[in-house]
Amino acid sequence: FNPSKYIHQLQESWATDRGDASYALLIRCFVLVSSTTSRIKIVDTLVNCVRLLIEGDPSSLLPAVWLATNAISPPYVSMELGLGGSAISKALKQVCGLDNRSLKALNDKLGDPGDVAFEAKKKQSFTLRKPKPLTIKGVFQSLVKISKTQGQGSGDVKQRIVDKLLQDARGGEESRYVVRTLCQHVTVKTTMLIALARAFLLSKPPGANIPTKDPNQLARLKKEELAEVYAKAEEIVKASYARHPDYNDLVPVLLEIGVSEELLVRCGLTLHIPLRPMLGGITRDLSEMLSRLQGRDFACEYKYDGQRAQIHCDERGVVSIFSRHLELMTDKYPDLVALVPKIRGEDVQSFIMEGEVVAVDRATGELKNFQTLTNRARKDVAIGTITIDVCLFAFDLMYLNGQPLLNRSFRERRDMLRSLFVEIPHHFTWVKSIDATSQESETVLEFFKSAVDSKCEGIMVKILDNLPELEALGPDDNTNSIIPKEQKQSRRKPLLATYEPDKRLDSWLKVKKDYIGTSAGVDTLDLIPIAAWHGTGRKAKWWSPILLAVRNEETGSLEAVCKCMSGFTDSFYKANREVYDKDGSFSSDGEPRNVHVAKPGFVEYAGGNPDVWFEPQEVWEVAFADITISPTYTAAIGLVREDKGLSLRFPRFLRKREDKGIEEASTSDFLAGLWRKQEVKTPAPPPVEGGR
Ligand code: ATP
Repeated sequence: FNPSKYIHQLQESWATDRGDASYALLIRCFVLVSSTTSRIKIVDTLVNCVRLLIEGDPSSLLPAVWLATNAISPPYVSMELGLGGSAISKALKQVCGLDNRSLKALNDKLGDPGDVAFEAKKKQSFTLRKPKPLTIKGVFQSLVKISKTQGQGSGDVKQRIVDKLLQDARGGEESRYVVRTLCQHVTVKTTMLIALARAFLLSKPPGANIPTKDPNQLARLKKEELAEVYAKAEEIVKASYARHPDYNDLVPVLLEIGVSEELLVRCGLTLHIPLRPMLGGITRDLSEMLSRLQGRDFACEYKYDGQRAQIHCDERGVVSIFSRHLELMTDKYPDLVALVPKIRGEDVQSFIMEGEVVAVDRATGELKNFQTLTNRARKDVAIGTITIDVCLFAFDLMYLNGQPLLNRSFRERRDMLRSLFVEIPHHFTWVKSIDATSQESETVLEFFKSAVDSKCEGIMVKILDNLPELEALGPDDNTNSIIPKEQKQSRRKPLLATYEPDKRLDSWLKVKKDYIGTSAGVDTLDLIPIAAWHGTGRKAKWWSPILLAVRNEETGSLEAVCKCMSGFTDSFYKANREVYDKDGSFSSDGEPRNVHVAKPGFVEYAGGNPDVWFEPQEVWEVAFADITISPTYTAAIGLVREDKGLSLRFPRFLRKREDKGIEEASTSDFLAGLWRKQEVKTPAPPPVEGGR
């Protein structure tokens, strides 16, 4: 790692007026990031951009972080831009002097609105007024203003802001990214936390008294030593963000104290700020689960088919409820809010609890499926008007009476949950569970069957106790859940019974009924449909195959992983056409038209051009037999082979994930992890091309 290798490329763009960092700097960084698949270069570029901001204009760091992570607020604060595509089209026509026909031609040719803006700006032959160079702060403030403008006449005000942004954007690249930002197509998510951690190790704001490392000294460290220094800083920043996912709080504290364990105290678990949920690892079947948990005591719990809810209640009794994706949904469940005072035992002042909200028959307690729950209104449900009754099945307690419980073992957290709260049948209860060990496979199988018979998706299996070495770490605080060095280095990762926000560890495993008994006996991935080819024969009026992608969390791009044509019913094909056919890909009598448009800029795919590109909007769960190295599919390119990606063999559609947005689709990192696991089990498979 050479900290100054890319810095000059960024410095060239540092032109500022009044000392504010220019938008051009950030765009230079985005262009460099998008021009490479090398993880090292992506991280280096971001680190150096962040360093320049810390040292040169710290007040632009927070806006830059928001712009680079494609948001203007955390998910639980609702701030929408509320812009239609027409606002961007209008601005492009006005600013670049395009007529309807030439704009449509560009749209058809390029597909991605950002690429359209790039070309349109290049064609611009006049300027209405002298452009004022954009600054990072200025662009961010414009977005905030757009989101805050509401009510009568707001459309015109928003339009003027968009027009001005495009007028002031210098050249194609700035225009491309202004438009991508307005359409919310820019992301460098996980990498941002890594970049912040490394940059704050190396740099501090002018005048600040933060201990930093000398880059030259770091450059002299051995590779492993350097990796360790970075890993520690990254673990702290990621742990802080997982407990308190708001850059508005994280960045100012970093600017004040840099990266230290204090960050987890200043910016840690907080009431009414949702922590990122712990996630379950996938297992093929019960026997794989049992062998992975050999020698440990574990709990098996019903995996209910509802909606995950994180419930916060403070000393005053104020309640907030958050979704799996950290959105505020207190208004959706006034019945749960009303339930809180009744379930809160007398020793409970404040708490954060997690559970699954499931639609039930109030009289019998019978569970209803997820589909039933989706019929409940999203917001502002008045208590008297509720038609879908729900029960909360609690499964974890993360905070109690002012103390985080994350580092307590699951057994302890569960004991507190069961002993301190009051059960109200058919309204509030604990998830059904048994405790077991790997020796008790019969009992586990019986429990799994009873879960499936009760309309559950399968079971969740959770390690109950920490290893004795971990217990020795000491009293609960916000910091010690970071895995100690020696544990990390041990060959087998320790199975922690602690609550690890935002982590997918083997200490929580899910065994789903879908996986068991599928012909290939397989893993599944949550993929995004991104494009398709016109079908032939019986399928001539539909699309088949469909191109699916994983998410690259670093670059924000969607990387094609396979074509899928199995598992779909005819009625599914029909409905699918209705969802995605926005551009008239079929004539009025249903015949396919060839409207070839270019690959959108945010897609990575090296195969032949599909007949239609979709607007990414859904997540599909897909089963497959195994993972292969591929020159055509670019998923996880650079992660397992420098110039080849990964693909899936025998992909088969299982179902739509109605509960997941595209931000939650499987990542290229996750796919690479599955591939590595597969390699350990079946070394050196033949290098075949995946998909069909
Ligand atoms: P992931 O991101 O791990 O894929 P997901 O949200 O897509 O998770 P699943 O893969 O189906 O969902 O499994 C985890 C989910 O199962 C949890 O988010 C939660 O909503 C649900 N769930 C139901 N019962 C339990 C339980 N007893 N313990 C934990 N989670 C449960």
